[in-house]
Amino acid sequence: MRGGPEPDVDPAILDEIDDAALPGGERRGADIPLGVTGPDQDEDMALTVVPDTPDLEVETDEVAAGADAGVGVEPPPYLSPSSASAFDHCPRRWKFKYVDRLPEPSGQPALVGTFAHRVLELLCELPPEGRTQDTAKALARECWPEMAADPEFAALELDADGERAFRWQGWLAIAGLWTLEDPSDVDVVATERKVSADLGEVPFLGIVDRLDRRNGQLVVSDYKSGTVPRLRFRGDKIQQVLLYAAAINEHEGELPDRARLLYLGQRIIDIPVTPRRLEDATGALAETWGAVGTACSAGEFEAKPGVLCGWCPFAEQCPEGRAELETRLANGNLPDHAPARVLVA
Ligand code: SF4
Repeated sequence: MRGGPEPDVDPAILDEIDDAALPGGERRGADIPLGVTGPDQDEDMALTVVPDTPDLEVETDEVAAGADAGVGVEPPPYLSPSSASAFDHCPRRWKFKYVDRLPEPSGQPALVGTFAHRVLELLCELPPEGRTQDTAKALARECWPEMAADPEFAALELDADGERAFRWQGWLAIAGLWTLEDPSDVDVVATERKVSADLGEVPFLGIVDRLDRRNGQLVVSDYKSGTVPRLRFRGDKIQQVLLYAAAINEHEGELPDRARLLYLGQRIIDIPVTPRRLEDATGALAETWGAVGTACSAGEFEAKPGVLCGWCPFAEQCPEGRAELETRLANGNLPDHAPARVLVA
């Protein structure tokens, strides 16, 4: 986010976290602190990228019961984009969250995203002429008590300066919409549209941040308050918004023309929705759904250790993750700021 503080983090690590953190995505928000310098602005020639233009997410897939290793469990009733992504990144972490239901704190970046998302939702429900920055400020003030009362916000234990910084980060994300588009020019059809659909054989559930109409065609828009990932890490996000488009097609009977990722304060990634892209996205979802079913029936959830173990809230319970952390520590490639470093340092 322009003008924001520059955290002491390795942007390459952040790119990976942006795509993988917060499995389940109970919080609509960034995985990455706002203000992080953006990664390489690689151009994807397959996409229309609108430069200099500005993730907010909610899904709660639930599995019926907790599991012991080797004991089968019921598969979840549906997949959301975030839980599918979480499973793809590390089935063990997915199991800790969705089967064992271990708590996973949202963290400040995600809460900032939640706050910004709520304000933008209310803003875009107003008539076009009311969608001004002054109105957004007023809405932010109205929404603040709700955020301040959130137990997860209290758990951050912010002092007065910290709370001020939080609010400022939230405002930067909100105002970042205007660097992308003038919301008063947008023909908003719906905000927070919950879509439930069978995509192929897969029961899918998602919440679309905003559904617009442009040139007579539907456009799916998804806010992101994290840093634009490098090209090779964008797959999850693009897949997510394409799945929303596929679900809208099933749900509304109208295929969106475009699917957009609005990286607040940064850029828009604008993706033409084509049958081939939808087929690829739903095919990948079906593969994940099959793997989830196999893992649940066997009660075996593979660990996929990697750099993200340093940020995994379940590393203490994961022998493979701890081994990964020890190896990384010994090799000098476990960042000082990785929260799980305390387990092995
Ligand atoms: S510590 Fe690493 S391998 Fe273990 S659950 Fe977390 S991400 Fe997966």
